[in-house]
This record gives sequence, structure tokens and C-alpha cells, in this order.
Amino acid sequence: MSAQIIDGKAIAAEVRQGIKERVEQRIAEGRRAPGLAVVLVGSDPASQVYVGSKRRGCKECGILSLAHDLSADTSQEKLLSIIDELNADPTVDGILVQLPVPEHIDEEAVIERIAPGKDVDGFHPYNIGRLTIQMPTLHPCTPRGVMTMLAHTGVNLEGLDAVIVGASNIVGRPMTLELLNARCTVTVCHSRTKNLEEKVRGADLVVVGVGRPEMVKGDWIKEGAIVIDVGINRLESGKLVGDVEFESAKERAGWITPVPGGVGPMTVATLLQNTLDAAERRDD
Ligand code: NDP
Repeated sequence: MSAQIIDGKAIAAEVRQGIKERVEQRIAEGRRAPGLAVVLVGSDPASQVYVGSKRRGCKECGILSLAHDLSADTSQEKLLSIIDELNADPTVDGILVQLPVPEHIDEEAVIERIAPGKDVDGFHPYNIGRLTIQMPTLHPCTPRGVMTMLAHTGVNLEGLDAVIVGASNIVGRPMTLELLNARCTVTVCHSRTKNLEEKVRGADLVVVGVGRPEMVKGDWIKEGAIVIDVGINRLESGKLVGDVEFESAKERAGWITPVPGGVGPMTVATLLQNTLDAAERRDD
């Protein structure tokens, strides 16, 4: 039997519509529109694409987008002073510094400089720490987007054996915490994991975020499992594929996300959701 497709594009559109309505309601109540400052250092083409879609998303939802496009030779001191100004600016609810930053800038120093209440990427150690102790405030966007997609399946996650492939700070690790908080039994795999295939074969829920085209084979998937593919890989042919062999996996899975049109659109929608949440929290 073929899997049900978890349509990230449609779910993201629904999330954005909800944000738009809430922002309109705020304005009707005489409150301000949320503001997101998007800081881009340099002109990396992929980063420009991501920043462009974040800014368009803001516009669509009525969120004010403040652009800070800085040259690649911007000093760390200058970037940190811009973050300080944004931290103090009452019209700014969220601050996003597009990663990666140029090599002469310390990424951790940048992340830690953002006020935790405005850290809409959810990467600040404060926010990761709160997620760890089951007191989340601002969640990292991609894993939170995945949780929204999982909620749409209607499947009860409690007690599921979840396997996460990839353990990065932005995908695998916070995904682990989200699923643990949802009361799954979680196994985290990385580049040193032994018998990856065996682990995936045992999973009721698989989340893959590695960045290797179709590394998880379709016949590894347990019948009826939920498969979430975070990976985005462009082949030489120009085709975009995920980290899972989609065509064969969908014959075994119960639910599966496509690439493109799966997790990708959810990440941007979740960033907008985090910005609204940050604004509402600041208003409280
Ligand atoms: P990283 O390179 O930071 O992390 C990759 C992870 O995969 C690491 O934990 C690494 O292990 C692990 N890994 C590498 N090789 C293997 C292997 N052979 N078997 C098992 N694990 C392995 O990548 P990101 O987390 O930043 O991104 C992962 C993918 O997700 C990319 O394709 C990226 O484009 C995509 N992505 C998509 C997003 C979306 O919105 N859809 C958002 C963010 C990322 P180790 O820790 O041992 O090095």
C-alpha cells in the first residue's frame, strides 16, 4: 500500500493563514504588528534565497520585516553592535542572523548575543536548555515544523520507537528533545553509528536530516512507519531529492514527507509562528 503524503506546502499555508489572521486581530485591537529583523552578512546565493523567502513570508502574514544586509567584510564587533541595537528596539520581536556567517565571525558568539526572548531561530543555549527540561519557550524552527506536521497525521506519538538520523544542533538534537518530550522512545544516529540500517528497520517513526541524497533506502522502512525527510540535496541534474529514497519508501511507509514540498516550507512558516509567539510573549 502506498503511504499517505504529509503535504508540507499545504500545512505551511494553513499555518501562515492562521498567523495572518492573528496579526490582523492584533492590529484591530490596537496592538502593533510583530517585527522580524533579518540580518544577512555577505552574499552567499543559498542564504540570499532563504532570506528572500523569509522576508516574503513576513509580508504575506503582515509581519514587519526589517532588512539588514551587511557586506561580507563586516567585523564581528559591528555585527554584535547591530544585534545589541535590535535587542533594545521595542518594535523588533524576532532577530534572525542567517547562518552560516563568514568565517571571521564566531557563530556561537552571534547566537549568544541575541536576547533569548527574540531568538526566533531557537538556537540560543537558553532556549535549547528550556527545551531540554520540558519548559520550552522559542523552539528551533525545523523540529517544531516537523512536530506540526506530525500533529496533522493524527497519529498518537506516545510510546513510538523514533529513530533520528543526523545529530546537528539545528535538526537532529532539538528533534530528539521534541520527540522525547512527546514521549517517544528516541534513538539518535550520526556518522559513527553502527548498523544504521538495523536501527531504521525497527523504527515506527524515522526523521532523517543528514544531507546525503537518498542514503536511507526504501526497503529499510518498517511497514506503516512515519517517514520525515529533512534533507535537501540538489543532484547534478538539478533535481532536488531528500535523504530518503522516496519512491520505494512510500510503498512501505504509512506516512511520508516529499522533497521538495515537505519539511522545507514548514521551517519558514514556523519562523513566522515563532515571531508571532515572541511578540505575544513580550506583550504579556
Ligand atoms: P550537518 O552537516 O550539520 O549535520 C549532519 C548530521 O548527519 C551530523 O550529525 C552527522 O553526524 C550526520 N551524518 C553524516 N553522515 C552520516 C551517515 N553516513 N550516517 C548517519 N549520520 C550521518 O547538517 P544539517 O543538520 O545542517 O542538515 C542536514 C540536512 O538537512 C541537509 O540536507 C540540509 O540541507 C537539510 N536541512 C533542511 C532544512 C529544511 O528546512 N528542510 C533545515 C535545515 C537543514 P556527526 O554528528 O557524527 O558529524
